[in-house]
Amino acid sequence: MSSTMGHEVTVLLIEDEAEIRRFLRATLPPHGYRVYEAVSGGEGVAQASARNPDMILLDLGLPDMNGTAVIAKVRAWSTMPIIVLSARDQEQVKVAAFDLGADDYVTKPFGVEELLARMRAAMRHVNRLAGGAIETVYTFGDLRVDLGRRQVFVSGKEVHLTPIEYKLLETLVRYAGKVVTHRQLLKEVWGPLHVDEGQYLRVYMRQLRNKVEADPAQPRHLVTELGVGYRLRTE
Ligand code: CA
Repeated sequence: MSSTMGHEVTVLLIEDEAEIRRFLRATLPPHGYRVYEAVSGGEGVAQASARNPDMILLDLGLPDMNGTAVIAKVRAWSTMPIIVLSARDQEQVKVAAFDLGADDYVTKPFGVEELLARMRAAMRHVNRLAGGAIETVYTFGDLRVDLGRRQVFVSGKEVHLTPIEYKLLETLVRYAGKVVTHRQLLKEVWGPLHVDEGQYLRVYMRQLRNKVEADPAQPRHLVTELGVGYRLRTE
């Protein structure tokens, strides 16, 4: 069992495609997950509150309602991780899903290894929050960020960031492992009046990558989630 939890993690799968349900029903349990299934949004919302699972895997295209409506309903009372299973042509819906509080996504067709990695990352994040420890030093491979001292090191050498670059990195560190949407980043770094200024983000992300990535053209830490936002990679 490769679960990092030491006990079974309960997962509610909300998905109308029988083939995907069958696939996950077979592949997840050997990795320490107990899978509950719902075939519609309504059933999913009901099961989420009845079972209070550790995590939800959510298809966006459901027969009775859009998956984003499920997110809104669940987020009204729970912060449980929600990983979206999206089709390739659902960029806009995907962004809406993140704005409503989805934690991550995989694009169909996805491989089980990728999904498992996303699920582990989501649970690590929950555990970190639940641990209650106010961690201030975060290490991601050769990148170390000390939020308490506001210092950034690459391979042990301190890197000097401008206030905006630091705020951008700090925001990504606070959501480490999760996708942060363009809107959310613009809001947190520049303020709510600047959520449409996508060019700010591109310019500062380039500067930041130049300072913290060994090869800014092939970023290892600050990865682009195409059409959605950025993620600070934790794995
Ligand atoms: Ca579907």
